[in-house]
Amino acid sequence: MNAESSAFRSALEVVRTIEPRIADAIAKELTDQRESLKLIASENYASPAVLLAMGNWLSDKYAEGTIGRRFYAGCQNVDTVESVATEHARELFGAQYAYVQPHSGIDANLVAYWAILADRVEVPYLKKFEKRQVNDLNDAEWAELRAAFGNQRMLGMSLDAGGHLTHGFRPNISGKMFDQRSYGVDPATGQIDYDALRATAKEFKPLVIVGGYSAYPRKVNFRTMREIADEVGATFMVDMAHFAGLVAGKVFTGDFDPIPHAHIVTTTTHKSLRGPRGGAVLCGPELSDQVDRGCPMVLGGPLAHVMAAKAIAFAEARQPSFATYAQQIVANSQALAEGLARRGVQLVSGGTDNHLVLIDVHPFGLTGRQAEQALLDSGIVTNRNAIPQDPNGAWYTSGIRVGTPALTSRGLGTTEMDQIAELIHTVLAQTTPAEGSKAKYTLDPALSDRVSKQATELLADYPLYPSVDLG
Ligand SMILES: *Cc1c(COP(=O)(O)O)cnc(C)c1O
Repeated sequence: MNAESSAFRSALEVVRTIEPRIADAIAKELTDQRESLKLIASENYASPAVLLAMGNWLSDKYAEGTIGRRFYAGCQNVDTVESVATEHARELFGAQYAYVQPHSGIDANLVAYWAILADRVEVPYLKKFEKRQVNDLNDAEWAELRAAFGNQRMLGMSLDAGGHLTHGFRPNISGKMFDQRSYGVDPATGQIDYDALRATAKEFKPLVIVGGYSAYPRKVNFRTMREIADEVGATFMVDMAHFAGLVAGKVFTGDFDPIPHAHIVTTTTHKSLRGPRGGAVLCGPELSDQVDRGCPMVLGGPLAHVMAAKAIAFAEARQPSFATYAQQIVANSQALAEGLARRGVQLVSGGTDNHLVLIDVHPFGLTGRQAEQALLDSGIVTNRNAIPQDPNGAWYTSGIRVGTPALTSRGLGTTEMDQIAELIHTVLAQTTPAEGSKAKYTLDPALSDRVSKQATELLADYPLYPSVDLG
C-alpha cells in the first residue's frame, strides 16, 4: 500500500477506537467530495501532504507571540515551523514581510485593519466605555465610538459587485469600526469603474481603500487603485483571499499583481492557493511591527499544525507545476464562460479573466436560490450570489457563482468545461419557477437524474485524491 493510503487508513483506525461516527463522517466526506461536481469558487482540494501536516501534536503547543519572542516556553519547533512558512510565503509572493498566524481570512483582515489604524490613528481614552462589553453596544454607541476615533473611513467594493462582508459592511465588525462607502462596477460593462472610484475616494477621503473581492470575475488594476489611494492619502489594502493562487502562479502580474502596489495584502490559504484553511498577511517593513501585534490584538495562540500545513502549501505553490495549475484554472474558467455564453447564458461582465464566472439567472425567470437548488438536485454544486444592482437582494439573489480551482485540481480541462456548460444550461433552461415564490420551482426528476449521471461520468476519469485508498 502507498504511504498516503496507509497514513489515512491508520489515522481513521485510531480515531474509530474512540468515536466511530467521526471516523465515518471523515471517510464519508471523501466519498461525497469524490462524487461531487464542485464548482464552488472558494473551495479546493489540498494535497495529502498539506492535510497530513495538520494532524499531529503541533496542535498541542501554545506559542502566543512572534518567532523568537513567545509568551510560552519551549516553542523552538513552532519557531521553526513559523519561520519556514513565512520564508516560503515571502519567496512565493515576493513580499518583504509575511505573517502566517491568522486562523482565517477574516482574522487576517482584522489584523490588517488594526495594523492600519494603529499606524495612523491616535487612540482616545473613553471613560464611558470602560467596563462595557462590545456586544452590548447599540448602534448609537458604536457611532459614538467611531466618532471618538475620528470616524475613520473605509472604501471597499460593494457586496453586489462582488465585495466581501469584511470590507466594511455593518453585519461585520469592519462595518462597526469604520464608516464605509462602496465602489462598484459600471452597469454597462460589469467592470470596475475606476473614474467613479477615484471620484468617490476624493469626496469621501477614506483612511483605507480595500481592493479584492469574492465574486468579481475580472482582473483588477492595482496600480491604478494605488494611484488613487496616493491621491487621497489612503492606505491601500488588497484582500486576495480568492485569487491568491493566481498571484502565486504568476497569472496576475504587473498592474494586476497586488503585492508591489498595496501597502498591505491579506489572503486566505485554502481557496485558489490550495492550502489548509487559514489566513496570512503580507506587507513591507512600515507595517510589519503592527502586524506582529495581531496576537494579542485579535488572535490568541497560533495554530502551529496549520502553520506547518501552510509551509507545505507555500512550498508546493513555488514549484513550476503550480504555475501550470494556475494558468489552467483560468483557461478552464474561460472555457466554461465561453461554453455558457455560446448557449445564450448571460454572464456578468460578459466573461472572465480569473477563476470564477458569475451567471445572471434572471433571463431564465429564476432567482439564484432556485437555480442553486435545481443545479444541486442535478449533481452540480455551486452557490447563489448577488449580481450588480441585484433586484432579488442578498438572500435570494439573481446570480450563480461558479469557479474552477477545485475541478482543475482534479485534472478536468477545457473540453470538460464545455460539457459542464451544457449541463448547467440544460438545468437552468428546464427549471420552472413556482408562481409567486422566490424559492420553489419544478424540475423534471428524470432530467435531474440524467444530468447527475452525466456529471458523475465526467468525474470518473478524474479521481479525487487518486493516491488515497481507504479500503
Ligand atoms: C473568503 C473570503 C474571506 C474570509 O475568509 P474566511 O477564511 O472564511 O474567514 C475574506 N475576504 C474575502 C475577499 C474572501 O473571499
